[in-house]
Amino acid sequence: MQTLKLFIDENISDSRVVVSMRSRLNMPYELVNGSGVVFDYISSSANPIQRAKETLYITRNRGAFIRECPGTCFYTCCGYKILHIGTFCNMDCSYCILQSYFHPPVMQFFANHDDLIDELDTFFNKQNTISRIGTGEFTDSMIWERWTGLSAMLIPKFAGQSNAVLELKTKTTDIELLKSYRHNRKTIMSWSLNTERIIREEERHTSTLTARLKAAARCEAWGYPVAFHFDPVIIYEGCEEDYKRVVQSIFSYVSSDNIVWISIGTFRFIPSLKAIIRNRFPDSKIAYGEFVAGLDGKMRYFKPLRIGFYQKMVAWIKEIAPDVLVYFCMEDDEVWEKSAGFVPKDRGGLAAMLDESAVLHCGLKMTS
Ligand code: SF4
Repeated sequence: MQTLKLFIDENISDSRVVVSMRSRLNMPYELVNGSGVVFDYISSSANPIQRAKETLYITRNRGAFIRECPGTCFYTCCGYKILHIGTFCNMDCSYCILQSYFHPPVMQFFANHDDLIDELDTFFNKQNTISRIGTGEFTDSMIWERWTGLSAMLIPKFAGQSNAVLELKTKTTDIELLKSYRHNRKTIMSWSLNTERIIREEERHTSTLTARLKAAARCEAWGYPVAFHFDPVIIYEGCEEDYKRVVQSIFSYVSSDNIVWISIGTFRFIPSLKAIIRNRFPDSKIAYGEFVAGLDGKMRYFKPLRIGFYQKMVAWIKEIAPDVLVYFCMEDDEVWEKSAGFVPKDRGGLAAMLDESAVLHCGLKMTS
């Protein structure tokens, strides 16, 4: 792991969570009054993204912890909610959207957990529908394990109710502590997967494919439901055989009955990411395929290329696990129809499909 420079917001430095983090991190830190000093420290670097990956800022979340996922109206959204625990990541994937999302990027952890707990309590009490909530949208869910007791708080918290499921999505294998938590199957442990070549060439400081699958198998053995995300799929010569092998290896580690969902999304990026990849990952070729601009301004592979790939992935998965729910990220009805043979609205919509699978695998209760 890279050396870390630590900043702590002085308004929260004596809180229970921060005191515990300080003792786990056991390193010098600088107290700051607001984020300006941290922003300046990162922005003044010749390589702010790299510096942000080596800087941790512990502060409070001044906004809402539970937010709607910022999907777009042009594509089929899945009705996901985000639990906003922090931002950015100390792993380093060439394609990571977070490199161009924050200005400047800051790896910050929100330590006002009393507010987080209050908000969750209010949310659980008001809830009368199924919710799927994830922490892995603006950061990796599990990089925080070594520094914080976040999962020790969140997993039992979700275990105590029946309307919502928590998804912890990661490329790490920091799962050891999960063995001891009461989870009541209300936490889905999920891994982003890719081919060994993409992991080796494009996903610096992440764990290997085998390590991720072994971690999933351990979580399954501890009773957790699991999920997998092929996102982003990168199309390259010979990729089909490689992705087929990854699909097959999933089922040699975990049982298909315990998989809540598998998502597939081909590589897409906002145009400004291309220059970042060129500068930070000069050997990467991923942004030089044949791309077209989508309705949301993101570059995507040509539709026929995406459909052709999705059809194969779905067939490989369904051949082994016909009942596993497979869904596509940010795709339209035409792609769904041609790739999966149906459109989500025929089955009540994508959100309803995912809710149903969560109910089935995690024992959620639909109350009305
Ligand atoms: S693991 Fe996820 S959040 Fe971290 S750098 Fe890679 S894509 Fe970004």
